[in-house]
Amino acid sequence: MRISAMSNRYDIIVIGAGAGGLVVAIGAAAAKKRVLLIEKGLFGGDCTNYGCIPSKSLIASAHIAHFLKVSNDYGIKTSPFSFDASGALTRVRKVVEEIRSHEDPAALSKLGVETLQGIASFMDPHTLAVEGKTVCGKQIVIATGSYPVIPPIEGLQDTPFLNNETVFDLQEIPKRMIFIGGGPISSELSQAFSRLGSNVTLIESRQSLLEREEPEAQKVILDTFQKEGVSLLLGCRTERVSYNNTFRVEVRGATTQTVEGDALFVGVGRQPHLKQLNLEKGKVNHSEKGIPVNDYGQTNQNHIWAIGDVTSPPYFTHYAENQGRAVLINLLLPFKLKKSSQPIPRCTYTDPEVASIGLKEEECNPKKIAVYTVPFSEVDRSITSGRTEGFVKVITKKWSSKILGATVVGPRAGEMLMELSTAMFAKLPLRKLSNLMHPYPIENLAIRKAADKWLKETIIGAFRK
Ligand SMILES: Cc1cc2nc3c(=O)[nH]c(=O)nc-3n(C[C@H](O)[C@H](O)[C@H](O)COP(=O)(O)OP(=O)(O)OC[C@H]3O[C@@H](n4cnc5c(N)ncnc54)[C@H](O)[C@@H]3O)c2cc1C
Repeated sequence: MRISAMSNRYDIIVIGAGAGGLVVAIGAAAAKKRVLLIEKGLFGGDCTNYGCIPSKSLIASAHIAHFLKVSNDYGIKTSPFSFDASGALTRVRKVVEEIRSHEDPAALSKLGVETLQGIASFMDPHTLAVEGKTVCGKQIVIATGSYPVIPPIEGLQDTPFLNNETVFDLQEIPKRMIFIGGGPISSELSQAFSRLGSNVTLIESRQSLLEREEPEAQKVILDTFQKEGVSLLLGCRTERVSYNNTFRVEVRGATTQTVEGDALFVGVGRQPHLKQLNLEKGKVNHSEKGIPVNDYGQTNQNHIWAIGDVTSPPYFTHYAENQGRAVLINLLLPFKLKKSSQPIPRCTYTDPEVASIGLKEEECNPKKIAVYTVPFSEVDRSITSGRTEGFVKVITKKWSSKILGATVVGPRAGEMLMELSTAMFAKLPLRKLSNLMHPYPIENLAIRKAADKWLKETIIGAFRK
């Protein structure tokens, strides 16, 4: 415990040392506020310890394994080979430790943040109890994140199933793995484990994976998974789970079948971390969906703020950080600023990645929009890389070409999307990007080609009619 002996009164108390809480605590300490950051688990929160960092580290190893497997397609012959990828999990843990070392109590203390380890719960609107201690804050920021939902499947709770908090502790790649859930987390991890040598079955109650994305994007991912040998049970309900050295999962679709595996991962959604906070004593309004906040980030109590996953979906690190920055500014300035209303970009780090922002086509009035799609089979760089399976799709207002939404499916879709995100942020219409010089032959030329289509398809097309 590293709490100052001075007093238990703070300018700002932050509950939760994850993506959002760290931004507020470090920023406020830099502005010479007296700050206390309380964390019940590992500093760094979900993103560093159980989320973005370990999953993206595992995916990096999975890419290497995949390159080896497909080297023949690139004219590089390999002798028959086998690989043991259990070291990939050791590497994951090393990367997590390295990143956590920049966010742990010792590192934070150097930045002027006092820390306290334990569960924080309200005693009254200004006072918190933490493992038998009492601390008071003029301002309090709740940044307690979210945790995995456990679905009510018969027998599940009696088995040693894995979730994102335990899967990265595995000592080796399981021979056979079953994934329940077809959202971003489960899709990313199932593909990574499959590429690292596991025989993977994924069970999803809907007919597709990544159901929040455009249907064309879902199709590319489905085709990729099928090509890579991931066994997909779509439109199937998981009825019952049992474990006796082997997991047996009873699945009902058109027929009933039993799938066996050496490990079972459950990733069916997340819920806000409200338990233990004793919000009634803090007189903070909340529901099972999270803690509602106003445009400034305040709860119903003016001096209590909430940021990140605990407020509401979407559950993203960049969203939590962005909310953290907005609240930090409001804590430091004598006046308040509204949170940014920019559209929130997202990226699922399957291979190919699926990155999107703004509206989907089905959410728009078809009479008022134009849709420009460029498949990577028309982009020179993608052809040279042998990666033509994806596309760029941009939805704009019909005549002005104001960008309403976009989807990129490709190897570095997250990075590529940022050109379109920046254009939306700066209120640049798509047609302007047609004049923007892009170094040849980068994949972003697909975006310039989409912009060219405004003139060819919408303007000239209208005159031709
Ligand atoms: C497998 C996985 C992969 C992901 N990948 C990505 C990605 O690639 N990109 C992306 O943008 N997002 C990703 N996410 C989501 C991202 O991790 C979260 O959106 C982000 O961590 C939310 O930040 P936060 O500050 O709200 O909460 P968290 O980072 O979860 O931090 C909350 C902290 O509060 C602590 N806490 C809770 N209650 C209390 C209490 N009463 N007292 C004291 N401490 C408490 C918790 O222990 C936790 O450390 C991923 C999530 C998972 C699970």
